[in-house]
Amino acid sequence: MFKINDNYLKLPGSYLFSTIGKKVKAFTEANPDKSIIRLGIGDVTLPIAPAIISTLHEAVDEMASADTFKGYAPDLGYEFLREAIVDFDYKRRGADIHADEIFVSDGAKSDSGNIGDIFAVDNRIAVCDPVYPVYVDVNAMSGRTGHYIESTQKWSNVIYMPCTAETNFAPELPTEIPDIIYLCFPNNPTGSTITKDELQKWVDYANKVGAVIIYDAAYEAYISEDNVPHTIYECEGARTCAIELRSFSKNAGFTGVRLGFTVIPKDLKSGDVTLHSLWARRHGTKFNGAPYIIQRAGAAVYTQAGQKQINEQIAYYMNNAKVIREGLSAAGYTVSGGINAPYIWMKTPDKMTSWEFFDYLLDRANVVGTPGSGFGPSGEGYFRLTAFGSYEKTLEAIERIKKL
Ligand SMILES: *Cc1c(COP(=O)(O)O)cnc(C)c1O
Repeated sequence: MFKINDNYLKLPGSYLFSTIGKKVKAFTEANPDKSIIRLGIGDVTLPIAPAIISTLHEAVDEMASADTFKGYAPDLGYEFLREAIVDFDYKRRGADIHADEIFVSDGAKSDSGNIGDIFAVDNRIAVCDPVYPVYVDVNAMSGRTGHYIESTQKWSNVIYMPCTAETNFAPELPTEIPDIIYLCFPNNPTGSTITKDELQKWVDYANKVGAVIIYDAAYEAYISEDNVPHTIYECEGARTCAIELRSFSKNAGFTGVRLGFTVIPKDLKSGDVTLHSLWARRHGTKFNGAPYIIQRAGAAVYTQAGQKQINEQIAYYMNNAKVIREGLSAAGYTVSGGINAPYIWMKTPDKMTSWEFFDYLLDRANVVGTPGSGFGPSGEGYFRLTAFGSYEKTLEAIERIKKL
C-alpha cells in the first residue's frame, strides 16, 4: 500500500493569491461599472526586449537545420551563457566566481525549491519574516520545519528573523544558531536591502557558526544605491558559506520564458565534500537543462543592446515605484522600499489588518494590492504594492488612494 509524503498535509492552505482573486471577482461582479487597477501582481508586464527577441528567433531557426540543431544541453548550461554571466555579474563586480561554478536552470523558484535536496532533514533553517513564501514551504514539504502553529502562524522548528520598522526591515543575527540561512535582497515583499558592510556580517557569522547562506538575488538589477551589494560574493569569505540564486525573470521579463542560475563555489564544503559536487550530481540526475533557445536569449541579455533595452524597462518600473512611493508619502502614509526594488511596502493606516486594508482599498479606490500578512507573521499590518503595472494606471491608482 503506498504512503504519501504527509508533510504536505501539515502545510496551511496557500490562500493568498486565490483569496485575492475571489475577492476581486466578487467585487467586479457586484460593481461592473468600476475599473479596477491591479498593483498586486509580482509579474512583469512589459514585452521582452527586441534584442532578446531577435536572438530567440535566430536560435529557433537553428533548430530547423541539421548542421545547427541542438539536442540536450550540457549539464551545467552552455558555456557561452556561463561565461557571459561570470564576466558581467561577477568579474565586473570584483567577485571571484568561475564558469564551472554556475548551474543554469529554468528559474530561481525551482532552484530555491530544489536546493534542499542536498541537505540533511535535520538542518534548522532561518528565514526573514516577511519573505517570499517558497523557502519555508519547500522545507515544510521535506519535513524540516516541525509543525505549523495556527495561533502564531509559525512553524515550530523554523527560526524567524523579524524584519520590521524597528530593524529597518533588515534581519538581525539570530540568537539561536541556524544551519541554513535564507536571505533575499533586495527583498520581496518589503523592497528593503542591506549594505555591503551589513551583508559582510552575515557572511562572517555563517563562516563562524558553520551555516550556509542561500542568497536569493532575483531583484539585483533593481539596485540603485552604490553601497548595496549586487552579489554576496562581493563579501570576503562568501566562497566558503554562500550559495546564490539568480533569475532572468524580473530583470529581463523571462517569467514566462524561464531561465535562472545557481552559483555554488567549490570552496563551500561539509568536511571533504563540496556542495558543488552534490548539486552537480542532483542537477545531472533530475534536470535535463534549460532549452538552447532560451539560453541564447539569456546570453542576449548581456549584450550591449540587451543591456540598454532591459535597463530602460527597469527604469520604467522604477519610475512607477517612485510615483507610488512619493504619492503615498505625500498622502501621509508610511512607506518604504521602491528604491532598490520594484516593491513598495506600506503600513496600513489606523491599525487596520493587512486584509482589512485590502478590502478598504478595493472597495473605496478599486485598487488591488497584496496583504503583507501573506508573506509571514511580521507582515501583518503592512501592504505590498508593485511597480510592474503601466505608468498611466499606476498614476491613476495613486490619485485614487490620495483622495480617500
Ligand atoms: C519572482 C521571484 C523568484 C522566482 O523567479 P523565477 O526565476 O521566475 O522562478 C525567486 N525569488 C524571489 C524572491 C522572487 O520574487
